[in-house]
Amino acid sequence: MNIDFSKNTDGLIPAIIQDSETKNVLMLGYMNAEAYAKTVETNKVTFYSRTKQRLWTKGEESGNFLNLIDIKNDCDNDTLLIQVEPVGATCHNGTDTCWAEENKTEYGFISKLENTIQTRRENADSEKSYVASLFKLGINKIAQKVGEEAIEVVIEAKDDNDDLFLSESADLLFHYLILLQAKGFKINDVVNVLKSRQK
Ligand code: AMP
Ligand code: ZN
Ligand code: ZN
Ligand code: ZN
Repeated sequence: MNIDFSKNTDGLIPAIIQDSETKNVLMLGYMNAEAYAKTVETNKVTFYSRTKQRLWTKGEESGNFLNLIDIKNDCDNDTLLIQVEPVGATCHNGTDTCWAEENKTEYGFISKLENTIQTRRENADSEKSYVASLFKLGINKIAQKVGEEAIEVVIEAKDDNDDLFLSESADLLFHYLILLQAKGFKINDVVNVLKSRQK
């Protein structure tokens, strides 16, 4: 890989450390040519520590190594994006990331929707909320609603109307997320079951 270590006078370039699975950014460190070479050789991310003024293999004391998965050069070869599989907490403060975040999988808009559903459930007295009213009806009614939406998807699948099919699919997914919430689960719990089936 053609990495430009000479752009900064100290020979250091930033290395963004990303979890290969969750895609969360875990930390930022600096590498010189030696640190890069050691990282590739050992498959454990090694930085040049500006504080310690020496090569620093992340995890050398704590055991919380960053196992190397992939390294990407940026557009002008002066910043690395390093995908890793972290062992334990990455930050020395004990948190998953150096920004005190939990390193969990996010599902973009679906996760936002799950959070909205959870908020409606917790404020079940909000009169205008359809979701809150569903939670008040109870789990059997919610499950029944999922069944109805599933049948509507089946009906629309037989037709040629894509708009109706997608609309009923959205209804099904939405009510399914509500059922999961009512049962105390999130979509990630289902994804984990699917993952466990892969061999
Ligand atoms: P470790 O590399 O995990 O064995 O930690 C050794 C030392 O490196 C710690 O005591 C901290 O001084 C420093 N350190 C560890 N993790 C980080 C981090 N994510 N960011 C900055 N410094 C760190
Ligand atoms: Zn760049
Ligand atoms: Zn940190
Ligand atoms: Zn529907």
